[in-house]
Amino acid sequence: MLRKLLGKVDEGRFSRALAGLAAGWQFEVGYRVFGQRGVDVRGFVKYGRKQYTVAISPKGAWCSCSDVVYRGTLCKHIAFVAMAELAHYAAERSAHREPQEVRPGT
Ligand SMILES: [Zn+2]
Repeated sequence: MLRKLLGKVDEGRFSRALAGLAAGWQFEVGYRVFGQRGVDVRGFVKYGRKQYTVAISPKGAWCSCSDVVYRGTLCKHIAFVAMAELAHYAAERSAHREPQEVRPGT
């Protein structure tokens, strides 16, 4: 589901998200629940003095930046979160752990 989402991101935004991953952008997860159709994940993308709210679920993706709010495109922050999640799952599995759900207040 996240890979399919990444496939819909245009080349320029995909590249900028990849550069962000290499530059150490942070994704602070506030909520992550795994469902039958994919993950529902929400949190903050942070770098420098910037912070954006990103939400991805099987129903779609949203970000607080102007690319999404005004232009209706899939932005680099959404792409970055998809990449960061995939990287996290891969790291967990290679360490023989399962990616953990995150629910506020638990
Ligand atoms: Zn964005």
